[in-house]
Amino acid sequence: MSAETMQTVPICCDRCGERSTVDLAPDWALVLRDGQIIAIVCPGCITEEEHLVLEINDATSELDRVTPEEGFVMKPKDGDES
Ligand SMILES: [Zn+2]
Repeated sequence: MSAETMQTVPICCDRCGERSTVDLAPDWALVLRDGQIIAIVCPGCITEEEHLVLEINDATSELDRVTPEEGFVMKPKDGDES
C-alpha cells in the first residue's frame, strides 16, 4: 500500500472544528445512527458514550468507501446472505 492509494478527503471535527484529511486521521470516529453518519469527531472530542455506540455500530455497519464526492459511505455489515 502506498500513500498514493489513500483518498485525500477533508474532514472536520463536529465538536472543535479541527480539520484533517481521512488519510491523516485514522483515529477519527464516525458516529453512526441507523447506519447513517451523524457526526465526525476527532479523538480528542469523542465521549465515552459515543465510544460505546461506535463499538456497537461497528458490529452492524462498516465503512464502504470514502470519496471526495460522497464523503464517508457506510454499508450494513450483515455477514452471510441467506
Ligand atoms: Zn474535535
